[in-house]
Amino acid sequence: MTIEEKRVVTMHYKLTDDAGQLLDESQDNPLLYIHGTNSLIPGLEKQLEGKTIGDKITTSVPPEEGYGPVMPQLIQNLPKDTFQGVENIEVGMEFEASNENDEKMIVRVEAIDGEEITINGNHPLAGKTLNFDVDIIDVREASEEELGHGHVHGEGGHQH
Ligand code: ZN
Repeated sequence: MTIEEKRVVTMHYKLTDDAGQLLDESQDNPLLYIHGTNSLIPGLEKQLEGKTIGDKITTSVPPEEGYGPVMPQLIQNLPKDTFQGVENIEVGMEFEASNENDEKMIVRVEAIDGEEITINGNHPLAGKTLNFDVDIIDVREASEEELGHGHVHGEGGHQH
């Protein structure tokens, strides 16, 4: 069975950046997703289309088909006062913030320079070329219920 819309794909993957540094991998638990539901980044989903069980795919996804470019306007310097109520601000901390469209977003503390805090609302993988090694373990039809919920049920998926 080949990978196409409304099918559940079970896969192992390894993600490295252009410097060869490991960014993410499925390890013991394979990743399950419903193809065609934008669960994966577009550049990867496109490469998996039409593949089948046992296929190994090596692909390089540019930022435009991944998590997008780094947007400088999402990097801001704020005075420490902005974080009133937070005891110890440390690099790497994440906060929920609202953008000008009132959408919730996660911002990370990128740097601390005295009274000035640099926050970054870009996805950590924005601006990166993503190199995937994928092993397709299984492909099956999604159930009506899974399609209704928009996620995979059973082993490796939602248990409910
Ligand atoms: Zn469900």
